[in-house]
Amino acid sequence: MSISDSTVSTRISENLARVRQNIAAAALRAGRRPEEIRLVGVTKYVDTEIARVLVEAGVVELGESRPQELWRKAEALTELNVQWHLIGHLQRNKVKRTAEMVTLIHSVDSWRLLQEINQCAANGPLPVRNVLLEINVSGDAAKHGLQAGDIESLFPEIAKLGHVAVMGLMTMSGLESTPDQKRQEFAALRDLRDKLSRSQPPNVVLQELSMGMSDDFEIAIEEGATIVRVGSALFEGIHS
Ligand SMILES: *Cc1c(COP(=O)(O)O)cnc(C)c1O
Repeated sequence: MSISDSTVSTRISENLARVRQNIAAAALRAGRRPEEIRLVGVTKYVDTEIARVLVEAGVVELGESRPQELWRKAEALTELNVQWHLIGHLQRNKVKRTAEMVTLIHSVDSWRLLQEINQCAANGPLPVRNVLLEINVSGDAAKHGLQAGDIESLFPEIAKLGHVAVMGLMTMSGLESTPDQKRQEFAALRDLRDKLSRSQPPNVVLQELSMGMSDDFEIAIEEGATIVRVGSALFEGIHS
């Protein structure tokens, strides 16, 4: 670390307190309880030792967008009982190892990936793996994700997968979107969840909405996020 350990941990604790306050305030504005919202600390910008400081400050759920980086940090921090979340694109050849290490895969962006997770779980130590379906609500062609209109027609096929539980939906707002557009995108994900909830098979639960990052988590919470994925706001003032 480039600055002293105590400075890093003070900074991270202050950042975390501020993020938690903002989460709570957004929840209350929306008439929700702050405890309903899970904070996943995204550690992709920092090294393992700084991730460790975040865990020691009290964030037990960590997210990484690259599988190899998740493996590396998870192995270095095994004694800490972190619950890992994969939040970025997962290639099928990395499913086996990743699925055994994470509590939730947020970024299922194709039917073939979902099948592969099911297959690996069928042959692996953990009988059912929890996933979210990543939806490209902004329609941004550069982004990963399933199209909202395609999900319902997949339900009969998803129902046959005995080793995955679809716990909800995930999205990222458009990079260029204004705050109002972000709000519409998050609301669209919630509306999709509500619509799909009428026809879902038993292994599709849809209780989670993973949406909101450092610069838009408050809007996401106002629109129903149950999980926010926050990176840079937790590491302000830290250079690793
Ligand atoms: C990097 C990343 C985040 C966190 O982004 P910040 O803006 O740094 O909070 C959240 N979700 C995904 C999918 C990411 O790749």
